[in-house]
Amino acid sequence: MSSQKTDPIASATRDDTAARGETFYPGASRGRLAAFPPKERWDNWTELDSQAWPKRKERHYSLVPTTCFNCESACGLLAYIDKVTGEIQKFEGNPEHPGSRGRNCAKGPATLNQIHDPDRILYPLKRTGKRGEGKWEQVSWEGVLDDIAARIRKAILEDRRNEIMYHVGRPGEDGFTERILAAWGVDGHNSHTNICSSGSREGYQLWMGLDRPSPDHANAKVILLISAHLESGHYFNPHAQRVIDGKANGAKLIVFDTRLSHTATHADYWVAPYPGSEGAMLLAIANYLIQNNLYNREFVRRWWNWEEYEESLKSQVSSFKSDPLKNEPTFDQFEDHLKQLYAHYTFEFAAQESGVDAKVIEEIAKLIASAGTRFSSHNWRSVSSGVSGGWAVARAVFMLNALLGAIATEGGVFPNAWNKFVPKPIYTPPHPKMWNETQWPREYPLSMHEMSFLLPHFLKDGRGKLDVYFTRVYNPVWTNPDGFSWIEMLTDPDLVGCYVALTPTWNETSYFADYVLPMGHGSERHDIHSYETHDAQWLGFRQPVKKADRQREGKKVDDTREVNPGEVWEENEFWMELTWRIDRDGSLGIRQFVESKKNPGTRLSVDEYYEWIFDNSVPGLPEKAAAEGLTPLGFMRRYGAVEIKQRVGAIYDEPVNPEELEDIREDEYGRIFTRTAKPGSPNVVPVPSPDGDEDGRRLVGVRVGDEIKRGFPTPSGRLEFYSPTMADWGWREFALPTYIKSHVHPENLEAGQTILISTFRLPVQIHTRSANAKWLDEIAHTNPLWIHTNHAANLGVRTGDLLRVETEIGYYVVRAWVTEGIRPGIVACSHHMGRWKLAEQGEKAQRQMMATVKLDHEGTEWGLKREKGAAPYESSDPDTLRIWWGDVGVHQNMTFPVHPDPISGMHCWHQAVRVRRADPGDNPGDVFVDTAKSREVYREWLAMTRPADKFSPDGTRRPYWMLRPLKPAREFYNFQPIDKVT
Ligand code: SF4
Repeated sequence: MSSQKTDPIASATRDDTAARGETFYPGASRGRLAAFPPKERWDNWTELDSQAWPKRKERHYSLVPTTCFNCESACGLLAYIDKVTGEIQKFEGNPEHPGSRGRNCAKGPATLNQIHDPDRILYPLKRTGKRGEGKWEQVSWEGVLDDIAARIRKAILEDRRNEIMYHVGRPGEDGFTERILAAWGVDGHNSHTNICSSGSREGYQLWMGLDRPSPDHANAKVILLISAHLESGHYFNPHAQRVIDGKANGAKLIVFDTRLSHTATHADYWVAPYPGSEGAMLLAIANYLIQNNLYNREFVRRWWNWEEYEESLKSQVSSFKSDPLKNEPTFDQFEDHLKQLYAHYTFEFAAQESGVDAKVIEEIAKLIASAGTRFSSHNWRSVSSGVSGGWAVARAVFMLNALLGAIATEGGVFPNAWNKFVPKPIYTPPHPKMWNETQWPREYPLSMHEMSFLLPHFLKDGRGKLDVYFTRVYNPVWTNPDGFSWIEMLTDPDLVGCYVALTPTWNETSYFADYVLPMGHGSERHDIHSYETHDAQWLGFRQPVKKADRQREGKKVDDTREVNPGEVWEENEFWMELTWRIDRDGSLGIRQFVESKKNPGTRLSVDEYYEWIFDNSVPGLPEKAAAEGLTPLGFMRRYGAVEIKQRVGAIYDEPVNPEELEDIREDEYGRIFTRTAKPGSPNVVPVPSPDGDEDGRRLVGVRVGDEIKRGFPTPSGRLEFYSPTMADWGWREFALPTYIKSHVHPENLEAGQTILISTFRLPVQIHTRSANAKWLDEIAHTNPLWIHTNHAANLGVRTGDLLRVETEIGYYVVRAWVTEGIRPGIVACSHHMGRWKLAEQGEKAQRQMMATVKLDHEGTEWGLKREKGAAPYESSDPDTLRIWWGDVGVHQNMTFPVHPDPISGMHCWHQAVRVRRADPGDNPGDVFVDTAKSREVYREWLAMTRPADKFSPDGTRRPYWMLRPLKPAREFYNFQPIDKVT
């Protein structure tokens, strides 16, 4: 069929949309996207030059896909590369991407600002003065690589592997760097997750063994969000468009948010509860379903581990009216217990805790009950990241799905891992043979991720030190709580030997680095990723678009530095080259994991790395590629994504393949263990078998009636209403879904204190990585304090007045924004703002969104004083002369002490604060902190833990079944004398 004769859009296969007379884009989007360039014309797409108007001047483009790196959603982007200049003209959405379906938020196209940012870091830099003195010299990549590789090699040879640490903010990929660390034999993966989403993850994992939900919003009848998925969060644009699809199909949207978020503005029911009380409302709704027999009885009977719960009662003093000691567990008895367990969660109790009218909660309960299995819900960050016991909120919200049987159903919630696809890589190094206590300390055996934000305290405690510390797309001084303690750590050479900041842009932590190494933005690097955007599976491919464009023209590009600006590199190549140099002769057994299979003795190239994966590990891709006359790598370079499954469905309910059922053993709860190996086929959706039995068999499924089903990746193989893990590891009182009064519950506040919500994000900014995007900065550049009209009147405050917000360890000064859009008595201040640069850095910083500050420091007392706000300046971009804003907000996180939840490890962000009018002499953006007080608060929270060396039921450091990004070898889960722990 000739493309000259036929319009590909008009001739596309049609579905319901087309049946309604609407055009749509043919391809993975299956959406109403008539405006997208059809893929057949991506080699030479013509548009009129808007700047030449009114002349009709044509410009010709190559359209090359990549994925956005500005949040974790990894939406598809299409780079428009001018065929004459070879430069990127703009980014739009990629209609071939199944997750984002051609749509982006403002931050996607703003990638253009980031790559043309006049202040970006273009060359490797080495510190020449003291850390933080702002003195830098340009150095060669060769010298950097040799120096760092030699340090790492020495640390490995001297068995100091625990002094090597990689600390990641935004991963943006699935497993590449974990494998690099595993190749080095280092348990050195540290992430930001405990300041982000560990609370939610803990609650979800306790139920289903997987730590994230994948809601099918588009097909739901009722959607409940305790999150801000119409504006931020994982995976916000792909989820937001499906929430709106659901609403367009008639779904009702319920939003719990103390603040009138963008998400709340679209709700049918918006309730603004007292922060931390959400669990009480959710359990009142659960109680309504239970007491009125409105739950899915058959689903609960088949899939909850109720028998295990009933059995556990035999070892306890019964508080039930019927004595379980005398009875064999029956489902009727369990139902009776369930009714008794939740009876006190009345609507009135929930109203008392939340301040929300009992009738409104009842109305919401009835609406949720009406949804049946078409109930989608999501708790992400929000309260679960705000308060102690926040993980219990995610556990409570998922209980509603578990009661309704709305799990892996159309319009329900899927376990995330079933809706993503992680291909097998070319090499899989073994698990590291060590355990790093500075990331996985014994006090937090059930934490969802590394206790990263406690690192300065651990090092100050003398628990270890770092010889080589990498941060990558991470800015702990700014992002983490207690930033001055991070500065104290980074400026102490006895604690940190060599600090390497891998970053595309200057940030507050990089000022204290020894090396600042320029890394590529989303259109300048390779990654693969797959996320749970809906009930499907897809794989996305981020790529350096200029490289792909040159290759399309038949040119050879060996290294991304050949096409990136300055000497900006990509991380894949950097890590492979560094690994090669750590073990040039292969004697350490490390080099083999970055060695070419095609040309042994030479380093693996990025092209070979991805070629192998796409040829061997992605089901259906070779066939799809062959149908278009492309190689699998060529297909991914051309389209940027591949859809693997349009629908996944209820994996837990699938029968186990007979070939996996040889030599099985069945226990008293119907768990089936086998000695057969795990299936190696990438076509099999993974249901991880978390633990085995004593004979070394792995859990392969559970008996349900006469069948053996795959089940869930929990220790019981079922949904764990009762968590034996919590009970066994010292937290029996929280083994069932429950409501926990948080650290900011009214009973825990002192007179005059109120709650500060500090975690909400703005739709157009990205943590700390978007200060270099001028379009975004112009839209949002400051963070006033949200304060309710009545509250403001009591203080005699009007919008724009200065306020002091006092925390446990210091204070900050901020302008007021008086609004009705927040619960009276609660205040809120957004994330992203208050960016700063040291005066000593001069032009080496982001000048569009950073204030120039002076750091005052005496003993443990630190002050940050603004010397100058943002201002116009001359640069290669004339727009920097048009900067009209000066106020860039306040860096509030510095004034927050660490609040690690004793179970999930999540930093509990909500603060009990005092808000008052500022003192004379206070200026906007002022910050003061005493880090001695930070230490006190750290110790208070540490004392709340139940450490594994006292509470572990089996002498291990952590339940083996629980997720860890990089798991050590199993024997290193066992406790050893502390002096043997590396
Ligand atoms: S939601 Fe926005 S920032 Fe996030 S990946 Fe998509 S386009 Fe980029």
